[in-house]
Amino acid sequence: MVKICCIGAGYVGGPTMAVIALKCPSIEVAVVDISVSRIAAWNSDQLPIYEPGLDGVVKQCRGKNLFFSTDVEKHVCEADIVFVSVNTPTKTRGLGAGKAADLTYWESAARMIADVSKSDKIVVEKSTVPVKTAEAIEKILTHNGKGIKFQILSNPEFLAEGTAIQDLFEPDRVLIGGRETPEGQKAIQALKNVYAHWVPEGRILTTNLWSAELSKLAANAFLAQRISSVNAMSALCEATGANIQQVSYAVGKDSRIGPKFLNASVGFGGSCFQKDILNLVYICECNGLPEVAEYWKQVIKINDYQKSRFVNRVVASMFNTVANKKIAILGFAFKKDTGDTRETPAIDVCKGLLGDKARLSIYDPQVTEDQIQRDLTMNKFDWDHPIHLQPMSPSTVKQVSVTWDAYESTKDAHGICILTEWDEFRTLDYQRIYDNMQKPAFVFDGRNIVAADKLREIGFIVYSIGKPLDP
Ligand code: NAD
Repeated sequence: MVKICCIGAGYVGGPTMAVIALKCPSIEVAVVDISVSRIAAWNSDQLPIYEPGLDGVVKQCRGKNLFFSTDVEKHVCEADIVFVSVNTPTKTRGLGAGKAADLTYWESAARMIADVSKSDKIVVEKSTVPVKTAEAIEKILTHNGKGIKFQILSNPEFLAEGTAIQDLFEPDRVLIGGRETPEGQKAIQALKNVYAHWVPEGRILTTNLWSAELSKLAANAFLAQRISSVNAMSALCEATGANIQQVSYAVGKDSRIGPKFLNASVGFGGSCFQKDILNLVYICECNGLPEVAEYWKQVIKINDYQKSRFVNRVVASMFNTVANKKIAILGFAFKKDTGDTRETPAIDVCKGLLGDKARLSIYDPQVTEDQIQRDLTMNKFDWDHPIHLQPMSPSTVKQVSVTWDAYESTKDAHGICILTEWDEFRTLDYQRIYDNMQKPAFVFDGRNIVAADKLREIGFIVYSIGKPLDP
């Protein structure tokens, strides 16, 4: 029986391995992590992450051929294939701070693999890493002094949070990069054999190591670039009277462009887009390509601009001040169907409004009060000026309350900011909400999900991203 071990039981490691276990009953899969609480949650009824369909997959396999454990060394030692899916955040200090990927977790995982292994293994990069990381990892692994052979593969993950299970069941492609040696090709084949249990052959792409590593950064950069492009257009729409949804539809009908990822919004978030573009910028700079670096930087600059534009619009609309006004924040996660708040645009929007002394009442169906308080007190790293900005003072945090109900959140509010496209926000009883709000009552739709005309009929003053302002 083939044994797989995955180091890192996070948003990628957990769902990915659960699906491999489900689709490959003949393979034993162990997911290991140094976080005791995370592993305890994976072994409980309250999984550590919210992802539609994940519960069912885990329940079907857990205890059969899927195991979650903190005994990292034992499972690594026993495995034939070791996936490494640890976090690779942006470095916050030292060389490359604010841009380069922090490979501390990766390096310590590689050193541990080298230390505990007693047999040859395939080591798979599942984390998103800078191009050429495999070369560094090879150095660590091959200097193990025990004669054990390791083959490194790059197998980046393309799942999106919120649709992870669907994405894993029917991936657009599975990408495997390896060395062009006979041993490298053999390793690629071994990993192909795993995915071949459910992924059609035509969707399994094989490349050299560097192409696979770079493709992941490139894919995220392209996706984020589309969002920044449409968001940049949304600003122009507001200035000219065009409607971004009509423009997106017309542009997306061009088969060379296509309709996906053309929704204007308050900005992109999530743990990956910004981090991976910063990483790309750093790699370009290190390779003497400052013009290319500058090009990709603009994607992030437009994203930051979109968030501050939104805050400015809220403040300007509410008679140039939100001081002591209650603002309901509907949605805090970076997108719907996840509880993940890493780099969510809601953080910057809330901080902007708090900076003007607003009182915030936040509701998100999957985000806890602890998460929100932590996110709003955390330092933000400014990558152009690598200094830490001041954390928020405890008194500012007192201006924030968190509710478990949209109606409670909006009661007595002067305005509502919709920051996540949760389906339930489309169908709220907006008449009831309006009746319980201060007047004039404002709605700022950062996701273009509510029917502005209907809300205006009720009496709301409505701002929708990239659309003509309230008549
Ligand atoms: P995560 O923070 O949710 O999970 C990483 C886990 O690794 C944590 O639980 C941490 O405790 C564990 N870990 C760190 N060092 C360890 C060690 N030495 N031994 C054992 N466990 C260790 O991160 P994530 O969102 O799952 O992302 C993982 C990687 O996948 C990142 O490189 C990310 O860029 C990439 N990725 C993420 C997504 C996404 O949507 N989240 C999608 C594609 C790729």
